[in-house]
Amino acid sequence: MGVMRIGHVSLRVLDMEAAAKHYEDVLGLLPQGDGPDGSRLYKGWDEWDKYSVILTPADTAGMNHVAYKVENDSDLDQIKEKLANHGVDASLKPAGHLPNCGRSLRFTIPSGHEFYLYAEKERVGKAVGDKNPDPWPDGLKGAGAHWLDHVALQCPFDPEKGVNKIEENYKLFRDALGFYLSEQAFVGPNQDIRAVAFMFRTTTPHDIAFLPAPTTGIHHASFFLDGWSDVLKAADVMAKNKVKMDVPPTRHGITRGETIYFFDPSGNRNETFAGLGYLAQPDMPPITWSEDSLWRGIFYHTGEEQGTFSSVYT
Ligand code: CA
Ligand code: FE
Repeated sequence: MGVMRIGHVSLRVLDMEAAAKHYEDVLGLLPQGDGPDGSRLYKGWDEWDKYSVILTPADTAGMNHVAYKVENDSDLDQIKEKLANHGVDASLKPAGHLPNCGRSLRFTIPSGHEFYLYAEKERVGKAVGDKNPDPWPDGLKGAGAHWLDHVALQCPFDPEKGVNKIEENYKLFRDALGFYLSEQAFVGPNQDIRAVAFMFRTTTPHDIAFLPAPTTGIHHASFFLDGWSDVLKAADVMAKNKVKMDVPPTRHGITRGETIYFFDPSGNRNETFAGLGYLAQPDMPPITWSEDSLWRGIFYHTGEEQGTFSSVYT
């Protein structure tokens, strides 16, 4: 099968205590103990592997790396070959290089982001267990996020200088990693410059998004909620905790997701995202947004930029 889904994101935070309070009390992630070098590990209650978020202490915010899980250990060797055929030099790392994981494959994608694949991570089970489970566990805090759903990456984009790392990422993920395209946007005088790509390996509308930006960064890490009423409750939780909200509850045209954008105390943008949108399948005709409708795609109700979507990232 190759790549199955997103596995974890490693985020840099400036104040670990403030960050821990945010990810535990606002997002409702479950602490999974300490990782290496002063880092802390977290998972969503509905996830079964040990962690999906690594918070690492640092002087600047942002993303260290993002990791996706492959089905079989041998996939790592096959994907290493495929990456080499596309000019990407990946290195195999021994078990334990990523905490609680088997061996991993590390490489840099065209946009400059550090990327890992791994097949094995310590399994701890869902908070509701796997025997006659209740639909949700007692004692959930905050938004009670189910799982890390996707990341959206800021990719260098300057078509006048011939720079389009969205296009390069898109081709690499399609050809070497087996991702499928769900939604895209084109800009420019001939509407032929790819400025946005949403791609998937699960059956959800996206497992990664590539967005245009001046420099490499992370736009947001997104956590899954069940539905619209959970999004409303998450917004209440954010207000209670005086979280800096970027965009209050609304709907995306792209993916049809129900969303809130907000910031962790270090300035990393988070999203709570509800609605499975639609069933993404390899043969689904990709959805295309034109430049004049792109804001409608991003914020469906207003059709205009909200918050600091295009200007702030880490
Ligand atoms: Ca997804
Ligand atoms: Fe998102």
